[in-house]
Amino acid sequence: MNTSQNTDTYATDRFQMVQYQLVSRGIQDERVLKAMSEVPRHLFVPELYRHAAYEDCPLPIGEGQTISQPYMVAIMTQCLGLKGKEKVLEIGTGSGYQAAILSRLASYVYTIERHEGLALRAKKILKQMGYDNIEVIVGDGSLGLPEKAPFHGIIVTACAPHVPERLLNQLETGGRLVIPMGNPYNQILQQVIKTKSEMKSRDILECAFVPLIGEEGWKQE
Ligand code: SAM
Repeated sequence: MNTSQNTDTYATDRFQMVQYQLVSRGIQDERVLKAMSEVPRHLFVPELYRHAAYEDCPLPIGEGQTISQPYMVAIMTQCLGLKGKEKVLEIGTGSGYQAAILSRLASYVYTIERHEGLALRAKKILKQMGYDNIEVIVGDGSLGLPEKAPFHGIIVTACAPHVPERLLNQLETGGRLVIPMGNPYNQILQQVIKTKSEMKSRDILECAFVPLIGEEGWKQE
């Protein structure tokens, strides 16, 4: 199969992913749908799993970690309510795919990954793709990134035992935190909106994420 046929195949797969996995399940934010119909997810997936890049599931990316299911990426992104001018923090870069989607929807994205190998690979792909409004940082994202705070949006793509207080402190008023909470067997995706007087939380859906490992997360196994 030549390259142009490959490109066409992935374009069709991507279109079908958006229609049958996202639109049909209620994703309505047109900007999110557009970003997900444009960013080439297959480039963020290891060669071995590339054929399955647009399937309705997470996939292994090395270091025992995963790229999240497309629907999960879409709903988490939609929960941030991005309009285009925001500064966003992602915790758990993984493959770099979620950061790529965010970079199409916000003004600047900081993304933190604790595995250096994954961070370097994500950085390389994002650079090759010309996404120049993303900074990949190696470190413990459970502490956030106080030197760049406040953020309009913080998205945590690993499961935390509790909402890290330090992340809430790094949200601006009106800002949103999207975070999977719970334990390995029972997790719920939560959206927290910081208002002038309180934190408004709502449960979004059940989910299954790898653990957030760090000072404000789970202890290293
Ligand atoms: N957003 C990713 C993507 O688009 O491919 C998927 C992320 S994967 C489900 C979760 C990631 O969180 C893993 O790569 C894991 O190493 C990372 N992680 C876990 N604890 C972390 C921490 N304290 N700081 C930064 N990254 C962390």
